[in-house]
Amino acid sequence: MKAFLGAGLLFAATLALTGCDNSPTASAQNSVLSGKTMGTVWRVTVAGVPAARLPQLQEAISRQLSHDDQELSTWKADSALSRFNQYQGTAPWPVSEGMADIVTMALRIGKKTDGAMDITVGPLVNLWGFGPVAAPEHTPDPQAIDSAKALTGLQHLKVIQTSQGQALQKDLPGLYVDLSTMGEGYATDHLARLMESEGVTNYLVSVGGALLSRGQSAGGRPWRVAIQQPTDQEDVAQAVVDLQEHGISTSGDYRNYYELDGKRISHIIDPATGRPIEHKLASATVIATTAMEADGWDTGLMVLGTEKAKALAIKQHLAVFLIIREGNKFVTWSSPLFKSFLVSQDH
Ligand code: FAD
Repeated sequence: MKAFLGAGLLFAATLALTGCDNSPTASAQNSVLSGKTMGTVWRVTVAGVPAARLPQLQEAISRQLSHDDQELSTWKADSALSRFNQYQGTAPWPVSEGMADIVTMALRIGKKTDGAMDITVGPLVNLWGFGPVAAPEHTPDPQAIDSAKALTGLQHLKVIQTSQGQALQKDLPGLYVDLSTMGEGYATDHLARLMESEGVTNYLVSVGGALLSRGQSAGGRPWRVAIQQPTDQEDVAQAVVDLQEHGISTSGDYRNYYELDGKRISHIIDPATGRPIEHKLASATVIATTAMEADGWDTGLMVLGTEKAKALAIKQHLAVFLIIREGNKFVTWSSPLFKSFLVSQDH
C-alpha cells in the first residue's frame, strides 16, 4: 500500500531570511507579496517600494505566473507543453522563445550530466505517480518500467530554428517532456525580469525552491537565504548564503515522496534505471547566474549521487552544497565556488 508522507509541495527547500514590513510608511522597508502557483508557493520580497504600489505588483505577478503555468504545465491538458506532448507526429512544432530557452538549457545540462537530468523522463515520472497521474498502488513491474523507459531519451528531442521561429522536434511520437524540474527556476527568472520592467531594483523572488535576488534588502543589507536541513521539520537551517545577485535552487528527496510496499519512493527518477533514486544524498543546492540553470543542475546532481555530484561540480566549476545522510546524522560538502557564497553553516 502507498502512503503519502512528503506534504511539501507547498514548501520551499531554500528560504528567504530577510524580514518584512508592509506598513504604509515602510518605503525603506521590505514588503512581501506571495501566492500559490504551479502546485507550490511564490514569494516576492521588495525593498523600498511604496505600499500603494503593492496591489498592482501583486496583480502583475499573478498574471505572469498564470501565463508561465499555461506554457509549461504537465498538469494542464491545454498548456503549450501538453499540446506538444499530445502531438503524435515528428514535424517541427513551433514554440515560444521562452519554451525554446528552457528546453535548450535542459538539453545542455542533460548532456553534461550524462543524461541524469533528462526532461523526457515524463512517462517514468507519471508511472511512479509524481506527475498528474495518481500514484500506483504497488511497485510498477519491470515490464511497465521498461515500456515507459523506451519512451525516454534526450537524443529524441531537439530545439530547431525554422523560418517561422523556434520549434521543438521529436523523433519519437510518444515522447513526453516534463519541465517540472526547471519550471520553477524559469518562472523565478521571469519574476526578476518583471521586477526590472516595473522599475523595482531591490528584490528577492522565488517560486518553490528556486530563488533569485538583485540589489539589497532594506537598510542596505544583503539578501540572505537559508538552506534547510533535509528533515520533516520545517525551517531548520543547515547553512546560510549571501546570494550576491545569483539564482539558487535546492532539490531533495525528503519533501516530495511516499511509501510504497514498505519502501520510500522519491520523486527524483534515475533515467538509467527507470526507478526512483535510493542513495544517501539527501539534497543538492546549486547557485548559478540564473535560477533556471541552478534548478536544472540540482536535479541532475541528485540523480548522480554524492561522489559523481562532487566530481561534476568541480569539473564544471559549479557552486554546489550537498547534504548527505550518514546514519541518523547529516554531513555536508561545499564545492570551492560555493564557499564564496557561504555566510554560516551548522556542522
Ligand atoms: P526538482 O528536483 O526541481 O524536480 C523534480 C521533478 O522533476 C520531479 O517531480 C519530476 O517531475 C521531474 N524529474 C524527476 N526525475 C527527473 C530527472 N532525472 N530529470 C529531469 N526531471 C526529473 N504540482 C502539482 O501538484 N500540481 C500542479 O498543478 C502543478 N503544476 C505545475 C506547473 C508547472 C509549470 C511546474 C513547473 C510544476 C508544477 N507542479 C505541480 C510540480 C511542482 O510544483 C514541482 O515543480 C515539482 O514537484 C518538482 O519541483 P521540486 O523543486 O520539488 O523538485
